[in-house]
Amino acid sequence: MKPLKELTRPNIWNLKPYSSAHNECGATAAKVFLDANENPYNSPYNRYPDPQQSEVKARLSKIKGVRPEQIFLGNGSDEAIDLLYRCFTCPGRDNVVAIEPTYGMYKVCADINDVEYRTVELDQNYQTTADRLLHACSDTTKLIWICSPNNPTGNNIMRDEVVKVINEFQGIVVVDEAYSDFSSERPLRLDIAKYPNLVVLNTFSNAWGCAAIRLGMAFAQKDIIDIFNKVKHPYNISTLTQRQAIEALKEPYEVDKWVKTILLERGRMIEAFRLLPFCERIYPTDANFFLAKMNDAQAIYDYLKSNGVIVRNRANVHLCNNCLRITIGSKSENNELLSALRQY
Ligand code: PMP
Repeated sequence: MKPLKELTRPNIWNLKPYSSAHNECGATAAKVFLDANENPYNSPYNRYPDPQQSEVKARLSKIKGVRPEQIFLGNGSDEAIDLLYRCFTCPGRDNVVAIEPTYGMYKVCADINDVEYRTVELDQNYQTTADRLLHACSDTTKLIWICSPNNPTGNNIMRDEVVKVINEFQGIVVVDEAYSDFSSERPLRLDIAKYPNLVVLNTFSNAWGCAAIRLGMAFAQKDIIDIFNKVKHPYNISTLTQRQAIEALKEPYEVDKWVKTILLERGRMIEAFRLLPFCERIYPTDANFFLAKMNDAQAIYDYLKSNGVIVRNRANVHLCNNCLRITIGSKSENNELLSALRQY
């Protein structure tokens, strides 16, 4: 890996961050706070949130097996995706490499940041190799994006290849594990201490059942997390979100139960899809969704929509020709989808 200073956008490396009053002396340092122009009334909403989200991180640290200083919290993991560009790429000069097809926000954020987005097409089994990814890189490649389990294909990218990329790439490798709670593979998050150039993304939106609160995570070694914390908005996670996250983190066994139920439902849905005459192929999945190749995805999508059921139409996504991405819902939601399809 190149030195972090060389990988970081120069103005960000030199940035003197905004320092809130809370940051300077800590939220419990005094009995009277007259420093932040807050209204003393309307408790409990009148005070700014903890800018460092200490309690959330302390709880997360135990559950996720990483240290609190190795955690960045964002307004969804989408905030972390954008920050990665803003911290490590120079507009108009640098590029990033990503697998294709994959989660759309990597490209949108590249476009927003005026950074070239290079893609490496997945093969017929939606796999790739380290060599292919490294071959696509140039001297100004700063980030490699690997989503595993991948969205929209559902499968894990082969671990040996991912590790080889991390070991051989000179820049930062982002492994998006938004769906790893649904996979039996050991998450790479647990190995961040081994890899100074690895950033792992997680989210509260999927297995944790908290998409509404908008909370995402990036895990990495402290020097990378420190850069994110310099650049993030001072109070980027609201008190409401922090409270709800703490409540959710008190009950991790609930998540395990949900995941088990969703995986059982996933098995049932895949079996049912296999029997549909207009379903041509189901791709292997390690996530809470699966990709199904249909004989006419657009027509089926339109039909479902007119019957009040929305699935994700991936028919026009490169290498997902005629595919629909199906999220595993509750048992009754899944039954609604199946009964509509059986009348198609
Ligand atoms: N990464 C992947 C692979 C996703 O599919 C999603 C959407 N669930 C996200 C990141 C964004 O998640 P968040 O809701 O945390 O912004």
